[in-house]
Amino acid sequence: MNDTIKDFLKQLVAFESVSSDKSKAEISRKTAEFIKFNLETIGVHVQLIENEKEGNNPLIFGKLGENPRKKTMLFYSHYDVQPAKIEDGWDTDPFTLIEKEDGYLYGRGVNDDKGPIAATFFAIKELLEDNEVLPVNIRFLYEGEEESSSGGFEETVTKYKSFLGKIDGILVLDSSWFTDQKPSIDYGARGIAYMGIEISGPNQDQHSGLVGGSIREPMTDLIFLLSKLSDLKGKVLIEGFYDKVKLVTEEEKSLYDNLAFSLKEYKKSIGVDRVLIEDPVQTMMNMWRNPSITIHGIQGAFSEPGTKTVVPGTVIGKISMRLVPDQDPTEIADLFTHYVKKEFNKTNSPNKLKITAMGVGDWWYGNVENYIYKAGAAAIKEYWKIYPDFTRSGGSIPIIPFMEKALNAPAMILGVGQTSDGAHSQNEHLRLKNLIGGKEVIQIMLKNISKVTE
Ligand code: MN
Ligand code: MN
Repeated sequence: MNDTIKDFLKQLVAFESVSSDKSKAEISRKTAEFIKFNLETIGVHVQLIENEKEGNNPLIFGKLGENPRKKTMLFYSHYDVQPAKIEDGWDTDPFTLIEKEDGYLYGRGVNDDKGPIAATFFAIKELLEDNEVLPVNIRFLYEGEEESSSGGFEETVTKYKSFLGKIDGILVLDSSWFTDQKPSIDYGARGIAYMGIEISGPNQDQHSGLVGGSIREPMTDLIFLLSKLSDLKGKVLIEGFYDKVKLVTEEEKSLYDNLAFSLKEYKKSIGVDRVLIEDPVQTMMNMWRNPSITIHGIQGAFSEPGTKTVVPGTVIGKISMRLVPDQDPTEIADLFTHYVKKEFNKTNSPNKLKITAMGVGDWWYGNVENYIYKAGAAAIKEYWKIYPDFTRSGGSIPIIPFMEKALNAPAMILGVGQTSDGAHSQNEHLRLKNLIGGKEVIQIMLKNISKVTE
């Protein structure tokens, strides 16, 4: 059986389904067709749905089972992958699956998400072979644009979701364990508001030997405003920013007990001597459950090596805020705009200010008390003999809160690979044990879900 799942994964990895490369669109379509073909061999009713965003890769909608007495679980994954070239520093061809003696499979997408797709497919295939009937009804929702911000996903799902029917739970198979040693389940992700502060002065770039000292420079205004966004301890100074942040409850706090997190390892992994608060739980909370602000860069600034005496005419500061329950990203963008305008007005600058919300995305917060989490944790305990860590992502996955709303069902993220698999890097890998374990956990979890009566 292991040979079959490996062989399936080998074929899937061989498709160079890089969504960011439009010249690979035909290959991505072939990838979707390959998945469709395989799902159909086990009786899934599959439709390739054209992406509502023109030129984007199609989505795969699938259904298996219509028993109204059973729960209906939807699996989400993406079949597109990050770009990869052997010249990037891969030891072997990224699109040829290689099994090495270290017990790992190597190839682009094995962790993210082709391995999880293989685990899901074989979990269901084997359940059908063993029992002929499934413990739950199954739905598939696979996309091919996740590595390119899921373009068109929301529009397409909104338009065609009736194909899927009623959904009771969403299983997101697009993640790794929090650490290499211990399985984990994710129950949350932060939202985001990405902002641009544009300051324009002279009609074009000027020479500091010519205008230096005679005009108010846009960069000076911008740096002044950027310095007003947070203090040196990371506290955001925008008025009202923290008003809707949920306080930590005892139940939530208990989720941080015994997590496999080492502050020392964390600092070593990112190469810093100190974090803002030298405490492991507080650091995890700062990563996952507290909001933050980051200044990413300045467009229009002179940033090359050397000494150019330019006075940039227009500069745009790029800032993002990671947001948490119950902050509303649009409202935060408004608070940001209001605050920056107010600070700018105080400066009596002759320059022009323009603030743009460049993108917003919702946070996600799952309820760990619900039946999917219990069924998932019990399955992990049964297979791996250890209770999983419940973790969150400090990043943003807006399609999860979107799916929860659009499909009216709770979601959970089940990690398959390990954190050091190098999901977006060279020599991406997946431990064979994790591939098989992922498959087994899915089977046990679906059986557990079928026993839930709520
Ligand atoms: Mn992914
Ligand atoms: Mn990815």
